Amino acid sequence: MSTSVIELSKTALHKNISFLKQQLNTTRISSVVKANAYGHGAKEFIMMAQGCGVDHFSVFSSEEARKVKSYLNNGADIMIMGWVNDNDIQWIIENEIEVLVFDFDRLQKLLDVAKRIDCKVKLHIDLETGMNRTGFEQKDIDKLFKILKRNKKHYEFEGLCTHFAGAESIANYKRIKDQIGAFDCLYQCFIKSELKPKIRHVACSAAALSYPETQFDMVRIGILQYGFWPSKETLIYFLSKKQIQDSPLQEILSWKSKVMSIKNVAKGEFVSYGTSYLAQKDMKIAIVPVGYSQGYARNLSNQGRVLIKGHRVGVIGMVNMNMLIADVTTVKSVKIGDEVVLIGKQGDLSIPVASFSEFSDQLNYELLTRLPAEIPRVIIK
Ligand SMILES: *Cc1c(COP(=O)(O)O)cnc(C)c1O
Repeated sequence: MSTSVIELSKTALHKNISFLKQQLNTTRISSVVKANAYGHGAKEFIMMAQGCGVDHFSVFSSEEARKVKSYLNNGADIMIMGWVNDNDIQWIIENEIEVLVFDFDRLQKLLDVAKRIDCKVKLHIDLETGMNRTGFEQKDIDKLFKILKRNKKHYEFEGLCTHFAGAESIANYKRIKDQIGAFDCLYQCFIKSELKPKIRHVACSAAALSYPETQFDMVRIGILQYGFWPSKETLIYFLSKKQIQDSPLQEILSWKSKVMSIKNVAKGEFVSYGTSYLAQKDMKIAIVPVGYSQGYARNLSNQGRVLIKGHRVGVIGMVNMNMLIADVTTVKSVKIGDEVVLIGKQGDLSIPVASFSEFSDQLNYELLTRLPAEIPRVIIK
């Protein structure tokens, strides 16, 4: 038996996807499920997402693509945005997996295998527009066009794309606008050279909402579908633009454990390793079998909150490798086996993931993706 469990809410996901569909009109959603679906559990998440009509999934690596492929039941499409193992290339082509190319080395390898097995590889051409990460640059364009024209029999030109360097922050406004301009300019070059991609896709979650002109034919949505905002700024900008009060999103993940042990501590004693917590009064504490090796960040020591018996209580002392300690002095009748909510709701109270970033310098993204794959995932209503 595992010491904790992660629950995924179908209702919440439905809500998030319908919200996205409203914002996007006819633009297709590619559900970004890299990093084990942002820690949610790729298998369970993809099963639920397919139930919501999602039919395109983006992953980072060919290894992730293989896993996702095995979870699909509705013939959805898969796109690899990052790493490709050379040994996976033939599998990629035979299984019609879409793949981003951002340099000549990868392009040539893909085309060579496509030629050899007499199939077409589904290419997305990734353009460098100012992030300075991956992508073909302006200076590569002539050479790229030559190769693409020479090899027309060996690929399908699925898409033209780029990625923004921080669309979730207004501080990057100028840079993002410049990227949008650079992308359009390069797109025109493709069109003039009679190399027309089937689709254009450039937006991540933040861009899709804050720069609607970037929606084009498809958007690559990660964080929003899980019920989180890319940043507070994105949320506030959205609320003020739409003149609404509350976030229309709902976090789909909850994380729960149980009280493993209870004891009393006398006033003047230290709790857990070292001297970071001194009992100021006689106290009752509950030991919870989840620690930093199980994804509960150590910098939540003396900072975190958990829910027990409908009370919000503090995490006291250092978070250990496999345990944390909660102050349950005020919680009457708490007993071994009682539910402990680390993330999510209990009664009227909730611990949103976002609250963690106020105590620690972890982004939502980072906290989520550090949730270990070994914790069991359960789909709930
Ligand atoms: C991770 C990723 C996304 C999704 O980003 P979110 O902010 O989670 O929506 C989109 N595009 C690329 C290239 C990515 O790597």
